[in-house]
Amino acid sequence: MPQKKIVVIGGGIAGLCTAVYARKCGYRAEVLEMSHTPGGLASSWRRGDYTFETCLHWLLGSKPGSAFHSRWQEVFDIEKLTFVDQKEYACMENERGDALHIYTDVDRMEQELLNRAPEDAAEIRHLASAVRRLAKLPMPDPDEPLLTALRSLPAIGLLRAFSRMTIAEYGRRFRNPLLRAFFGEGEGAELSALALVFSLAWMSEHNAGYAIGGSQAIIRLIVENLHNLGGELRLGAKVERIVVADDTAIGVRLAGGEFIPADWVISAADGRATIYGMLGGMYADRAINNTYATLKPFSSYLQVSLGLARDLSSQPAFVTRILDAPLAVDPGTQVSRVSFRFFHFDPTFAPPGKTAVTCFLPTRQFEYWTALERDPEQYHAEKQRVADAVIDILERRLPGLRAAIEVVDVSTPATVFRYTGNWQGGMEGWLLTPSTGFRPLQRDLPGLHRFMMAGQWVMPGGGLPSGLMTARAAIRSACKQDGLPFLPGLVAAPGNRAA
Ligand SMILES: Cc1cc2nc3c(=O)[nH]c(=O)nc-3n(C[C@H](O)[C@H](O)[C@H](O)COP(=O)(O)OP(=O)(O)OC[C@H]3O[C@@H](n4cnc5c(N)ncnc54)[C@H](O)[C@@H]3O)c2cc1C
Repeated sequence: MPQKKIVVIGGGIAGLCTAVYARKCGYRAEVLEMSHTPGGLASSWRRGDYTFETCLHWLLGSKPGSAFHSRWQEVFDIEKLTFVDQKEYACMENERGDALHIYTDVDRMEQELLNRAPEDAAEIRHLASAVRRLAKLPMPDPDEPLLTALRSLPAIGLLRAFSRMTIAEYGRRFRNPLLRAFFGEGEGAELSALALVFSLAWMSEHNAGYAIGGSQAIIRLIVENLHNLGGELRLGAKVERIVVADDTAIGVRLAGGEFIPADWVISAADGRATIYGMLGGMYADRAINNTYATLKPFSSYLQVSLGLARDLSSQPAFVTRILDAPLAVDPGTQVSRVSFRFFHFDPTFAPPGKTAVTCFLPTRQFEYWTALERDPEQYHAEKQRVADAVIDILERRLPGLRAAIEVVDVSTPATVFRYTGNWQGGMEGWLLTPSTGFRPLQRDLPGLHRFMMAGQWVMPGGGLPSGLMTARAAIRSACKQDGLPFLPGLVAAPGNRAA
């Protein structure tokens, strides 16, 4: 029997994982990626001596022996990565010199918070206890709904309580201003409180470490494994159309006209572009239209990246600074806090004695930035204005820093869209809210055969693990429909090619 071929649209983490699973199960697999580098949002870029990471804060499954670690071993050799477990989840500070450290070690976190905010003692103890209990639970897995439900039974009350409120609602239980600020404001605070408590839980378990080399170190290893398995990754290949005959996906057409036939088409690209663009909206029923009309995606963002000729290893890795006066990101966005990442913990990002620093600024003004990009002079000037404002904030925190700046780089929502095609330059798919829960969305479309979707647009909350989980679920379903055994195996050693 000739092998069936799966064409995967998009070479982000979800598309790459899909192709790895496809090869392991005996399909021919070709990933079509429109950019000239794989990874999608899991990306970084080099400017002079510095590498600027945009994605990776932490990877669930970094702890050997954990359930998700084994999942990653199915798609790449995770043992080749070196993980750093941060001591602090975040440092909250204001411009008057007050700082609150949220430690990743749950006992230390509890003690520090009790010392700093005795008025919140009861809630602090409740939070610490929830973190300890959830640390033992595996992440909800759409591929194993029954098993997930069973494993979650001991903590069902806790899970329900946290999943029914937003981070903002939970934060209102606390009185200390910096602790309240930790629970955020604006859109991040609309997320389900469960997402935050789970991330604290995984970090306390050393199961959500940062991989040295950032997200591209992970992507490189997945691509390496895909090649070892005999899968193909084609870069600079933009899919314009999913070709359908008799309500069956039979291949894709690239920009430029080339037709690539397939037995299955799996899109791991932007959901809206797939359903309404590549398929022309032909298979969008009321439920799908409703999803795309009502669910709220994550915002986009600007990233100001600075290369600093200064050793900043005494700084916390992640700082959120609450501003005395708001910063105008663009005409529709003012932020009253900014987050900095000091990448002193990753020696591959800057030469010794120097530090790569990034600042994340959320915005939903996609049209503003894409229109501005058409006027290069104005676009450049506006990026410079935002960079200057961020540098002023940093200079107030670390006087004299301005003189050490060697590189300034600003990416905008227009940049994110250009490199990933995600709707309005979105950073992570759909917000995971009390109403979405951890339930995956439909991966197939009504009436269309031999087609599925994977990635952050079918799993609210997005993130790298959702790429793997949705890829696994898609290939498992393809195997079932084709009467093939689903063989995820563990990582294939070089030379151990699938038949
Ligand atoms: C600032 C930031 C911080 C984050 N932090 C973390 C973190 O710490 N931990 C974590 O787990 N996750 C994190 N994430 C989320 C994570 O990066 C994403 O959810 C995940 O990478 C999404 O993967 P994906 O494959 O679903 O989509 P994408 O990465 O968007 O990949 C889609 C791919 O499809 C390609 N494509 C689109 N259209 C076409 C087409 N027509 N033809 C061919 N190719 C096409 C794109 O170029 C892209 O490569 C973060 C994200 C951001 C932005």
